[in-house]
Amino acid sequence: MKTKGAILWGVGEEWSVEEIELGDPKAGEVQVQLAASGLCHSDEHLVTGGTPVAFYPVIGGHEGAGVVTKVGPGVTGLQEGDHVVTAFIPACGQCPPCSKGMQNLCDLGANLLAGTSISDGSYRVQARGKDVIPMCLLGTFSPYITVHQASVVKIEPDVPLEIAALVGCGVTTGWGSATKVADVRPGENVVVMGAGGVGMNAVQGAAAAGAKRVMVIEPVARKREWAMDLGATHVFESAEEATEKVNELTWGRMADKTIITVGDIQGEDIQTALSLTGKGGRAVVTGMGNYANTDVKLSLFELTLLQKDLQGAIFGGLAPRAAIPELLSLYQEGQLKLDELATAKYSLEDVNQGYQDMRDGKNIRGMIVYTDADR
Ligand SMILES: [Zn+2]
Ligand SMILES: [Zn+2]
Repeated sequence: MKTKGAILWGVGEEWSVEEIELGDPKAGEVQVQLAASGLCHSDEHLVTGGTPVAFYPVIGGHEGAGVVTKVGPGVTGLQEGDHVVTAFIPACGQCPPCSKGMQNLCDLGANLLAGTSISDGSYRVQARGKDVIPMCLLGTFSPYITVHQASVVKIEPDVPLEIAALVGCGVTTGWGSATKVADVRPGENVVVMGAGGVGMNAVQGAAAAGAKRVMVIEPVARKREWAMDLGATHVFESAEEATEKVNELTWGRMADKTIITVGDIQGEDIQTALSLTGKGGRAVVTGMGNYANTDVKLSLFELTLLQKDLQGAIFGGLAPRAAIPELLSLYQEGQLKLDELATAKYSLEDVNQGYQDMRDGKNIRGMIVYTDADR
């Protein structure tokens, strides 16, 4: 079928909204009509070249929700009309990591940046006659996607789809970074570095886990205000200010857990996080950096003698199939704020404006909301 999509033709270019050809579902695949797609910072890494892909063009987007419109042969547990959220890590449930309870590290993720379909290694999207790589095997910057069943998670139909899209990436990543990977316990001091679409949910997760203090470092004033609304107890403009105040507040013990959720992580951020973390504490690296950046600064002396723990995290260490419905249920019970996160809505045509607003720090999460005009 013919539809539209936001395509990136090379590093440093703008998203080009143009006609695409979308294939029908093959074995194990479904077609989904999307209601919305989040504008996540990870797609910006395709623009800067920070995330390598096998080739361009790429269709962006990996945070979507919608309704199944077609079902391919061999699909189990999904039918037309089902409401689903996309998972940027596919989860097969059977590979060694999945079997060990680490669905966020499913082996099907191996081709995430090659873009070859799980089903048969071919491509479902073509633009200007060329194969297109779908970001994270999804490509939600289009009102329709054809994806493998491992890449979607069925949800209850009474959750608004525009809201449900948020838990496909940013919310779950932030929440799990605090509750699962940092393993925040009641009474702990927690620092969150960077209050964007991921960091705000690390704040919500840390607060829900019972942290005594949730202390946020964020240079943008409006985001510091939002962080306070979402559960932060203290906000600081810079790491220098935070280091001094955290030292004061904790009587020199510093944070039990520090979570790095800046959009484009640099090597120096590691030392900053470890300095903010006290003896026996843990620093969690959630933000993404440039794939070629191997230059990390840290005190090996402190790491050993103060027994600090430096831990990476993808998808907040959570299993998409368990976490996505669970977080939406928390939202329905009023225990997770999602409406407040979608601070601006855009049409597909305005995707570049959405990313400019992200760079300018104007949003927690900008959302593309699809209408018939896009389809
Ligand atoms: Zn994302
Ligand atoms: Zn798996």
